[in-house]
Amino acid sequence: MDRTFAIIKPDAVAAGQAGQILGAIEAGGFIVRAMRMLKMSRTQAEGFYGVHRERPFFGSLVNFMTEGPVVVLALERENAVKAWRDLMGATNPANAAEGTIRKRFAASVERNCVHGSDAPETAAVELTFFFSASDLL
Ligand code: ATP
Ligand code: MG
Repeated sequence: MDRTFAIIKPDAVAAGQAGQILGAIEAGGFIVRAMRMLKMSRTQAEGFYGVHRERPFFGSLVNFMTEGPVVVLALERENAVKAWRDLMGATNPANAAEGTIRKRFAASVERNCVHGSDAPETAAVELTFFFSASDLL
């Protein structure tokens, strides 16, 4: 079993889709190890998405991620990073496979409902960005 980090983004929380997304996560065989609702500060969003700092959509992405509450999750499953990215679907919902969360719920390449770590190393960093060691025991 390994772990990944997930976010239910502000668009999905505001639309009342967090419960359905959690249901899809559980139906997908993930165990929710830790979960918290919070509103990201600009500093947190800029740090979390720091790898995208030079991209043209960075400012808009930070505005989006701070516009309302999110749900952050530590998910456990065999092959968790890849399994969660498969369940999320492609970044742009127009390219996302049928049945994926982004296909079902996302409005655009930016407002795309969910985040997932892109590698086990990234997952470890992202989990400690939002959870303390005792949350993750
Ligand atoms: P995430 O990191 O949120 O799980 P991802 O790994 O599928 O998504 P990234 O390339 O890491 O995609 O982009 C991070 C986020 O930035 C995307 O989820 C989306 O919200 C936003 N984003 C990515 N590409 C664009 C774009 N071309 N225009 C606007 N927003 C974008
Ligand atoms: Mg990414």
